[in-house]
Amino acid sequence: MPEAKETVLEINLGNLAHNYRFLRSKIDKDVKFLSVVKAHAYGSDSVVIAKKLEELGTDYFAVAYVEEGVRLRKHGITKPILVLHPQFTHFEEIIEHCLEPNLYSEKILQSFIITAERLKQKNYPVHIKLNTGLNRLGFDQPEIKKVRELITSNKTVRIASVFSHLAASEDWKERDFTVGQIDLFRKMTWELIKDLDYEPLLHICNTSGLLNYPKAAFSMVRSGIGLYGYGNDANIDPHLKPVGTLKTIISQIRQLDPGATVGYNRVFKVEKPSRIATLPIGHADGINRIYGKQKAGVYVNGKYAPIVGNVCMDIIMIDVTGIECEEGDEVVVFGGPQHPVKLAEAGGTISYELITGVQRRVTRRIIQE
Ligand SMILES: *Cc1c(COP(=O)(O)O)cnc(C)c1O
Repeated sequence: MPEAKETVLEINLGNLAHNYRFLRSKIDKDVKFLSVVKAHAYGSDSVVIAKKLEELGTDYFAVAYVEEGVRLRKHGITKPILVLHPQFTHFEEIIEHCLEPNLYSEKILQSFIITAERLKQKNYPVHIKLNTGLNRLGFDQPEIKKVRELITSNKTVRIASVFSHLAASEDWKERDFTVGQIDLFRKMTWELIKDLDYEPLLHICNTSGLLNYPKAAFSMVRSGIGLYGYGNDANIDPHLKPVGTLKTIISQIRQLDPGATVGYNRVFKVEKPSRIATLPIGHADGINRIYGKQKAGVYVNGKYAPIVGNVCMDIIMIDVTGIECEEGDEVVVFGGPQHPVKLAEAGGTISYELITGVQRRVTRRIIQE
């Protein structure tokens, strides 16, 4: 099946729509849905994905950094965009592009208010992050009074939402801790917003949060990995469809006799007559060295072929002995017969890292719904 002509990441928008509808069906109709499209929409294509999600009816977007949000605005995305991890050097750009910052510390909150005042803003929407146990970004409980004072003492900004992030929403062994985070969020939020004359959105659930703690959906959920087809749970995964499929082709095949070695540092030693195929994909495309030395493999015409020797920058070699194939044939690296979670596990990592690791030089091919 000589379909691919190079290494391509296929992005299936029908699968995205399926996942969106599945996740939405797990929460009440009046709960808003924020789609997380940071890191090129988890390694795919943030503009294409965001446009499709707008069409599907998502209420909000989130990105990690300001430039990711600017890119979406430049491509016509109009829904609100929360920037999860802004730096104060980018505050003017945030306002210029109608992005909404997560303000997570006193310093960053004060500094944003100063910029917004200077640019003559009124009621500019901002998001307040509370730390409930992840200990990453956010205000701690003793700081809430100060946050309330800073925000209510002038009309420059308004709290569009108050949120927090769960540390182990996918892990049932940490259920008590998670329930504790949710309770603390409720308390801290109340302290912060009780005297406001408007009602900010409240949200704490990521994908596993909304699946495992749907009662804690509050007024919005934030989903990333689920949209891309992964449920962090073997029982959920069958209900979701991976959006990305990474394919490549066979560039060359050679027959080798015992005694030959393959690749850098002669790591793979041929012990029986073998057919070795060379593929145009390597660690600079996102298939890291950890997958080499037969730790993982790919699929050629439906059959598993292990990666032999060291992964090179732009090339891997695979053992296709006994597999019917020829130069130019398509190879599936992940997706289809190889669930990406399985490949990630073979490399000692998780779906998030595998899919966000697919580098920009890999061609993206969009498959419409
Ligand atoms: C990345 C991120 C998410 C998305 O989490 P998933 O597990 O991918 O659903 C949600 N909230 C915050 C704060 C994040 O950084």
